[in-house]
Amino acid sequence: MKKVLSVAAVILAVALVAFLAYDGIANKETSTDFFSMNTYVTAKLVGADSDECAEQIRSLTEKLDTEILSRTSPSSYVFKLNSNGGGEVDGKIKEYLTVLLNVSQKSGGAFDFTLGGVSDLWNFGAEPSVPDETALKDALSHSGYQKIQLEETAVIYGDKKAVIDFGAAGKGIALDEIKSLLSGKKIKSAVVSVGGSVLLMGEDEFTVGIRNPSGNSGSYIAKLNIPEFCVSTSGSYEQQFEKDGEVFHHILNPETGYPANNGLLSVTVLSQSGILSDALSTACFVLGQEKGMALAKEFGCHAIFVTENKEIIAEKYAVDIIEITDDSYTLVTR
Ligand code: ADP
Ligand code: MG
Repeated sequence: MKKVLSVAAVILAVALVAFLAYDGIANKETSTDFFSMNTYVTAKLVGADSDECAEQIRSLTEKLDTEILSRTSPSSYVFKLNSNGGGEVDGKIKEYLTVLLNVSQKSGGAFDFTLGGVSDLWNFGAEPSVPDETALKDALSHSGYQKIQLEETAVIYGDKKAVIDFGAAGKGIALDEIKSLLSGKKIKSAVVSVGGSVLLMGEDEFTVGIRNPSGNSGSYIAKLNIPEFCVSTSGSYEQQFEKDGEVFHHILNPETGYPANNGLLSVTVLSQSGILSDALSTACFVLGQEKGMALAKEFGCHAIFVTENKEIIAEKYAVDIIEITDDSYTLVTR
């Protein structure tokens, strides 16, 4: 009898150790950060596969940029399309272009993914300056999403000088690709940010900050308490410079080629789709609060607007998820 009991005790102890070890692996935490897509990428992963996934996130993001989306890297697919004035497209790149064309159309051109030539002149990514008026007009005359035709297996540039630019949506695309990578793995939760776009994955409730538009990158004006989402913010504070007392930022009004000014400081969009959250945050910024809100709704997404008047404007649902942390701002629901 004694022997049976001690064997049972040993089995129990082994099972307990195995359980604790398994639990330890299942809750394994890994963090990584690196620079890609012209911005900082950070990932915090929990799960048995967190180490290998952190590595894969890095290579996936770098490849997506240099092999597919970059407007400036000669090895990328988009660079080749722009150099050749069109070409074959299928699979993923065609899907991305379809979404950008749709957002361009539905926003009435406030979002325009062919503004690359104009953005090149402003050169926000490197050494920004106010472009020469004639050069700006010329670049604008070659932009316009209506010039791009998507066919079964090809993209046709109606104007060979049009320059497709994924700058407003590439970070969101990275989130979608990372999301599908992680869904096949043993990952319990993930928070991955690619610049101003964040992927929240898992069953937890997450807290994300809305950045203080006039503060440093670590200061926030509000918190969002939300489940799984992609959250993108477009802000005029992100890339800007001052010339003769005037501030110029990188989100452009496609009608003029100059920075969009609608009294907004930032727009945050929540969506299950990364590409939509990113593209729509830019589109809403250009459209302004009222039309932007309507556009986000049309796509089934939520938008939160931060205005120069220190208001945070959102739909009524937002009362439950927003917590203002800087009391110089007021929450306004519509
Ligand atoms: P960030 O790059 O800071 O995340 P956005 O997602 O808002 O900001 O994208 C801004 C980028 O999108 C610009 O740097 C430029 O490449 C491109 N862009 C600027 N204006 C427009 C526009 N009206 N429509 C589409 N893309 C734009
Ligand atoms: Mg964007």
